Amino acid sequence: MAERIALMSEIKVPVLSKSRAVPFLEPGAMAHSKPFPAGPEIQARLGFPDKLVPDWEKVAVNTLGDLVKQSRALRVFLDSCVKCGACTDKCHYFLGTADPKNMPVARQDLLRSVYRRYYTFAGKFFPGLVGARDMTKEVLDDWYSYFHQCSQCRRCSVFCPFGIDTAEISMAARHIMSSVGLGQKYTNEIISKVHNIGNNLGLPEPALADTLASLEEDVKEETGVDVRFPLDIKGAEVLVVTPSADFFAEPHIDGLIGYAKVFHAAGVSWTLSSHASEASNFSMFIGSHSNLQRVAVRIREAAQELGVRRIIVGECGHAWRVAYNYWNTLIGPFDFLDRNYPIPQHICEFTHDLIDRGALRFDKSVNDDKVVTFHDSCNVSRASRMGNHPGGQFTIPRAIIRACCNHFYDMAPETIHEKTFCCGGGGGLLTDDLLELRVKGAAPRMNALRQVVEEHGVNHVAAICAICKSQFAKVLPYYQFPMNMVGSVHGLVSKAIQLGPGN
Ligand code: SF4
Ligand code: SF4
Repeated sequence: MAERIALMSEIKVPVLSKSRAVPFLEPGAMAHSKPFPAGPEIQARLGFPDKLVPDWEKVAVNTLGDLVKQSRALRVFLDSCVKCGACTDKCHYFLGTADPKNMPVARQDLLRSVYRRYYTFAGKFFPGLVGARDMTKEVLDDWYSYFHQCSQCRRCSVFCPFGIDTAEISMAARHIMSSVGLGQKYTNEIISKVHNIGNNLGLPEPALADTLASLEEDVKEETGVDVRFPLDIKGAEVLVVTPSADFFAEPHIDGLIGYAKVFHAAGVSWTLSSHASEASNFSMFIGSHSNLQRVAVRIREAAQELGVRRIIVGECGHAWRVAYNYWNTLIGPFDFLDRNYPIPQHICEFTHDLIDRGALRFDKSVNDDKVVTFHDSCNVSRASRMGNHPGGQFTIPRAIIRACCNHFYDMAPETIHEKTFCCGGGGGLLTDDLLELRVKGAAPRMNALRQVVEEHGVNHVAAICAICKSQFAKVLPYYQFPMNMVGSVHGLVSKAIQLGPGN
């Protein structure tokens, strides 16, 4: 497989337009798009074969059989599609690439056809009649290409009358591929870094401690206030786990500064952990339960070791999904935490609760240079909740933004809340070897953004997901928007919050 990254000038960027039409089909338009495969060392670290196993066809079919035995949902998803077509034009990758295999139903059929061949009566005896296919190298190549053109965003499932979740099918396919020795470099390398060093960036403890110390100096210089960024403090009330991107650079680090200022203003003791210095858990993207648990368990260990009473998750979309949906069964029970608070709690829930109780003061005018919109991240919107009422994951971040900004406008209703469009880089696709896909897949979101830019003068996109922020910073310039237009919700909080007289 030739390893090559598309040059900026080679990418045909979709034209944004007022009338967003379904594209004319271009069969095979993205067949060439394949991520770099994981090397033998990375595969081995995750417990997968280090190269394609000799009898990979048999292993793939058997692994698929195991997965449908373990997951009733997966079997139902593979059995129940009626080809109604409601999902066909709902995927951002189809809208951006025009490749018909990026229609959700077509993507599902890549796996469904093999499932039918080996696990249904009709497929075993009349394969031609029911679209059943043998597991061949050609099929595997198609899987590697098109299951890495799904960000597992679940938008299609919102429109499917049966709720068929292509994300689950895509996770299963990636798990099968890893299991036969064909893993994806970007995702598996990141998981391997978390196993080895503790976070996605491979940032060791001394570097993390240095970063936090210099943040304390920066904030002191900016505000005159001693805002702490504590690390490994035993007996703190709260353990914060956040994506390691928050330690690193714009547009993430402003968010971390915002969290620290909120804790300072609320007078709640908190700590980060060098053992659990990463909230992200890319194992979900490859459907690997063993790696999911191995990554997640560090957070339980850190919480117990530090003796905290609460765990709060920073701005990270899929990490919040993993925490909200899976932590309890993966690494629970959390009977050692304080049950008077949500377990786990999102940083937005924490800040919003303080705002509701009048415990924070803001000077909104500080953000008057910004006309803000909010990008709902897929995993938060369609795979989790916040607060005590349905839809809290939509209202809470917006309430925080409105508390610290005077100018806020939502994007079009069919592109927000549970119908939000993916940023184009989720699900383990945030890698430059998939840049063409990322740029094209961002088109529907960019089109909705164009509309609020033109109608309301929006000049700032706030988000609560590290992947979304990184993806926007990369693709905004392709659509003639400035890359620094994206920021953290807690970056807005950080600017407007009042810590003492005059700051
Ligand atoms: S889950 Fe998202 S990326 Fe995957 S097929 Fe559905 S809409 Fe497309
Ligand atoms: S909307 Fe659901 S049932 Fe209809 S084609 Fe898509 S996956 Fe199949």
